[in-house]
Amino acid sequence: MDRKLGFIGLGNMGLPMSINLLKANYEVYGFDTNAKAVELFTEAGGIGLASAKDVAKQCDVVMTSLPTPQIVEMVYLSEEGIIHHAKKGALLVDFSTVNPDLNDSLHKEASTLGLRYLGAPVSGGVIGAVNATLTIMVGGGKDDCDSASEIFGIVGKNIYHLGLSSSVGTRLKLLNNLMIGFYTEAVAETIVLGEKMGIDADTLYEVLSNSYGQSRIYERNYVEYMKNNNYAPGFSTNLLLKDLKLAKGMADEAGVSLRIGEKLVELYSEIAQQGYGENDMSAAYLSLKDTCKI
Ligand code: NAD
Repeated sequence: MDRKLGFIGLGNMGLPMSINLLKANYEVYGFDTNAKAVELFTEAGGIGLASAKDVAKQCDVVMTSLPTPQIVEMVYLSEEGIIHHAKKGALLVDFSTVNPDLNDSLHKEASTLGLRYLGAPVSGGVIGAVNATLTIMVGGGKDDCDSASEIFGIVGKNIYHLGLSSSVGTRLKLLNNLMIGFYTEAVAETIVLGEKMGIDADTLYEVLSNSYGQSRIYERNYVEYMKNNNYAPGFSTNLLLKDLKLAKGMADEAGVSLRIGEKLVELYSEIAQQGYGENDMSAAYLSLKDTCKI
């Protein structure tokens, strides 16, 4: 495979993922609208370019890790977008979490123009991006997935090719994030109530670690964030809210009523309105304390 790769969106996830590719001796060309992100990328050995279009023109493989479906759509499909400037036959890999329809329409547009496309959302958080232990849920052509396997193996650990539909990985990813929404609020409620009962948070964590109430999200939210009183994202409340809305959209289409999931959309909207949108999702704990005036 060509050693020249493109990476657009050098944020909490994209920066460490691209750094792992640089460490594996790939030549990585990157772009982000945030100059600070590009600076960190170039300090790590990446080559910063002035636009997504410039990255697309340079590389046979172009990856994206962008915050919202609207931004993904613009970066791919606008006049200056990747799809209109990529090299013929290029492989486009979107690691962002978007609505499944968008994966399908980008795949269709890309194919029409002689390009290849994979919808490949990831799970495992910033720590997984740094340690290259991400789970990657790939939808799209099997040959295309195989041709990206070296890259996937560098940025992730558990790689699943889930089917030929480019949105199948996204559907699975949205189910995962629905559960993250449940657990994050459950952890917040459990710890706030436990503290009110006079139960020390460390003791609660220790005991629940050996009980059925434990979860990976309890471990993540408590140990990495709440215990250190550190709420810099991580995975922001706004991104979780985006994914819960996407999961609700998927459920509506499927005719499944998400009895708690729908309430979670309202709840995280309120948490964002309380001012915690740009904080890590574990700030649901702070929001509950504000609500209860603790
Ligand atoms: P982020 O906001 O930290 O990073 C996104 C980056 O995209 C930012 O640096 C931003 O400046 C850049 N950007 C925005 N508009 C752009 C444009 N038009 N052109 C180029 N760059 C642009 O978000 P993140 O946490 O890294 O998440 C990225 C994607 O991965 C999202 O879809 C998210 O849902 C998903 N995700 C995040 C996590 C996590 O733990 N943070 C885990 C799994 C999946």
